[in-house]
Amino acid sequence: MKLTTGQTYWNKTATPAGKFPSLQEDHHATHVIIGGGMSGTLAAYKLASAGKQVTVIDRAEIGKGSSSANTGLLQYASDTMLSEFVDRIGEEDAVLFYKMCLEAMNQLTEIASELPEITGYRLRDSIYYASTPDDADKLKREYSYLKKHGFPAEFLDHESLVEQYGIDKPAALRTWYDAEVNPYQFIQALTEENIKMGVTYYEHTSVDMDSMTEDSIRTESGSTISFDAIIIATGYSKLYSELNGKAQINQTFAIATKPIEGEFWKDNVMVWETKKPYLYFRTAPGGRMIAGGLDEKSSDLYDDPEIIQRKGQEILDEIKEMFPKLDVEIDDAWNSLFGISKDGLPFMGVAPHQDNVYYLLGFEGNGTCYSMAGASIIQDLLDGKSNPYAHVVKPSR
Ligand SMILES: Cc1cc2nc3c(=O)[nH]c(=O)nc-3n(C[C@H](O)[C@H](O)[C@H](O)COP(=O)(O)OP(=O)(O)OC[C@H]3O[C@@H](n4cnc5c(N)ncnc54)[C@H](O)[C@@H]3O)c2cc1C
Repeated sequence: MKLTTGQTYWNKTATPAGKFPSLQEDHHATHVIIGGGMSGTLAAYKLASAGKQVTVIDRAEIGKGSSSANTGLLQYASDTMLSEFVDRIGEEDAVLFYKMCLEAMNQLTEIASELPEITGYRLRDSIYYASTPDDADKLKREYSYLKKHGFPAEFLDHESLVEQYGIDKPAALRTWYDAEVNPYQFIQALTEENIKMGVTYYEHTSVDMDSMTEDSIRTESGSTISFDAIIIATGYSKLYSELNGKAQINQTFAIATKPIEGEFWKDNVMVWETKKPYLYFRTAPGGRMIAGGLDEKSSDLYDDPEIIQRKGQEILDEIKEMFPKLDVEIDDAWNSLFGISKDGLPFMGVAPHQDNVYYLLGFEGNGTCYSMAGASIIQDLLDGKSNPYAHVVKPSR
């Protein structure tokens, strides 16, 4: 199953492939992680940092799945507002979920501070604007919950939004402790750290996910991998039957522009909106802009580059309407699968059917933040420790 079509910008920043061998014989590791994207890499980092023996197996190449399609806006605020979660799951769990995300953002920032510059990790503020006047009221309510629980947020009325950011929309929230990243390079840099801590990697090794027993799983080429615990970090590649009815695989579009001279807008803030599906955009090192949106409810990706380019142009035209002086052109456009969940929460923790199997599936918009949080939750569960957030995102909910 293809995860992306078209040309992603991050792949252009990629190093030569084929770093790790494929698995040709039987293998044992106490902790096996299937999938070497953002989720698998962060899980390997957490587990190896705690002294665990870890093997990561990927059917393709490390970091080249959906993580290389990721537009790299890392935010503590979710696609579902805190106030919406309050209505949906109650105030206590809603606040726990947002706290989990803010903590994950801080952990990502700490990890990034130890990695080389090439990860492009930079703390950025986000502007979350109201797409309609009605949504300005929703933002006011959201702001009151964020403030009540101490989350970093400021309400901007129309006048301040225009004056400070040149965005002519009814109102917005500014949040901080968010960040931008080159997800592909972040994964590569963290993989180097993981190798130093003794993590074993195999690429081009497809695992038959339906062959799982209580302590082993087989590769498509017939090798047996035995484990004490296994973490499923396969992203949007497969919708597991026990999540049936709780999740869905859709598709979305993204672009990177050619570089321009000068500043795009104040503070290079990352911008998104209340409309669904939402438009979102950020700047990137070297004078580029990266943007995305136009989600569609189908998992059949377009193969025709002209269609992908046309969708990308629609995204860019919408941004140009907001910033008419922007003189930018598309360089890369891509179309990718995108997993969502019915309740807006990711699936992270023990699998309902087997207690040494863990899902690390960061479905929904700020998946990177969820990958980080999920890696910490699984680390705690493996050690038999309680985790304050585990019950909110557990796959059996
Ligand atoms: C266009 C787009 C924009 C996005 N923008 C953002 C954003 O701005 N911010 C954000 O936080 N998130 C964003 N996301 C979400 C983010 O990309 C995902 O949360 C993240 O990539 C998930 O990482 P992963 O490791 O779970 O999946 P992946 O990166 O897809 O990794 C899964 C890996 O598992 C491997 N695999 C699958 N099946 C098998 C098997 N049977 N055997 C062996 N290996 C297997 C695959 O080869 C793959 O490498 C975006 C997603 C898309 C598509």
